[in-house]
Amino acid sequence: MGKLFAVEIIYRGVFQKTLAKNITRGVVLAAHNQGKLGLSFGRYGDSPERNGIPAKSFAIVADDEQTLEEGMAQYEPKRVDVTVVLDDTLCKGVESWAWYGLQPVHRALKPGHTLIVVSLQDAPTLLKSIHHRETPYKLGVLKGATSFSGMWVYKDDHTDVRVLGAIAKALPELVGLTAIKQFVTEKLKNPLKGTSAQLAFDRFHSIEVKPGEGNPEELPKFELLKWEDMRDGVSIKGQPQGGPYKDPITKQVGGFRPARNELFKKGSTRTQRPVVNFATCTKCTLCWLNCPDASFDVTPEGTYDTNFESCCGCGICEDVCPVKDCITMVNEAQFHDNKSQWEAFKKDQDAYLKWLEKTIKEAEPEEKRSHGFRYRGQYKEQVPEALEAAQRA
Ligand code: SF4
Ligand code: SF4
Repeated sequence: MGKLFAVEIIYRGVFQKTLAKNITRGVVLAAHNQGKLGLSFGRYGDSPERNGIPAKSFAIVADDEQTLEEGMAQYEPKRVDVTVVLDDTLCKGVESWAWYGLQPVHRALKPGHTLIVVSLQDAPTLLKSIHHRETPYKLGVLKGATSFSGMWVYKDDHTDVRVLGAIAKALPELVGLTAIKQFVTEKLKNPLKGTSAQLAFDRFHSIEVKPGEGNPEELPKFELLKWEDMRDGVSIKGQPQGGPYKDPITKQVGGFRPARNELFKKGSTRTQRPVVNFATCTKCTLCWLNCPDASFDVTPEGTYDTNFESCCGCGICEDVCPVKDCITMVNEAQFHDNKSQWEAFKKDQDAYLKWLEKTIKEAEPEEKRSHGFRYRGQYKEQVPEALEAAQRA
C-alpha cells in the first residue's frame, strides 16, 4: 500500500469557488507529473452554495491506484496533510449549512502539519482568531489580500499558483516545485505564473504552534440525535416570538428582541460587521426593516443593536442607513467577541464613541474589503494596494 495525501482548501462559497477548484486541480495535475494519481472535488459539488458561506474543496493524491481508491471511499477526508485558508476571516472557524456548529479551521489537520493562510496579517495576529488545540501544528502566512481570482469580473492575481508554491514548500513529499512549474508551463502556459509559484515557494515559511496556543474560546459541542432518538413523523418545532427586554443601566423594559434559534448561529459567515453610532441614529427603522437575517434587536430606547450570532455581514444596513457614517461595515478580523454594541454604548457613551472611531480608522485600508461586490470598480481600486503588499512580502 502506497502513501495517501489529502489537501483541504477552505474558501468563501461562490466568490472563491473557482480559485479553490483551480488550486486542488493544480495539486493533482502537478503530482501527476511525479507519477502520482489523484482527484480533486468540491464538497458541495451537488449542492447550492450561498454567497460567502464557508465551503471546502479537496485534492486526494496517492502513490498507486489501490491507495487512491481507498481515499476515494471517504465522503470527504477526515484527516488532511495541508489545510489552506483563502480568506483570513475564516480563521474564526468554519460553519456552513452542511455541518453542525462552528468548527476550528484546523480540525482535520494532522498533528505537526501545516495550516497555510492567505493574509496580510502576521501569524501571531491570526492566532488570536485560530482556536487552540491539543496537538501541535505549523502556521504559515502567504502574504496577500483575499483573492477572488477566477471570478469572471476579477483579474487573475496568481493566488492559485502562489498557493501551489507554498504547498510545495510545506509538504514536498506530496508535490515538488519542479512538478508544479511543469504543470504551469504545460497546462497554464504562462511563464509569469511559474515565477509567482517560485517566489511564493522561496518566501513561504511557517512557525510552530504549540498545544493550547491560540484563541482560548471553547466551541459549543453538539450531541447529534441518532435515528432511534427522533420523534415519529416529520415535525418542525415552532419558534417563540420574542419580546421586550431590559435596559442594563436604566432597567427600563421595552423594545423588541426576536427569539432566535439556539443552535443555528452565524459563526464565520461574515467578512465584515456593522458598527453603529447610536448617538447619531434617528431611529428611522430602515436598517431593521431591510436586514435579511432579522439581526437587529429594537432597544428599549428605540435604536437598533446588531445581534452578531445572527448577522451574516451582508452590508445592506450600511447601504440603507440615511445618516452619514451612522453604520459602517468594518473588517471582521478586527473583532474577537460578539458582545452587544448598544450595551457598551449605554455603559459609557464617550468610551464607546472613541472605540468606534478608533475601530473604523484601524480597519483601513482593509475596511474596503468584502466577500463580493460591495461596489462596482472595487477590485480595480485595490490593485495598487495588493501590488504593494506583494512587494513587501
Ligand atoms: S450586515 Fe446584513 S445581516 Fe448584518 S445587520 Fe446588517 S443587514 Fe443585517
Ligand atoms: S438606518 Fe441608520 S438611522 Fe435608521 S435606525 Fe438604522 S442606524 Fe438608525
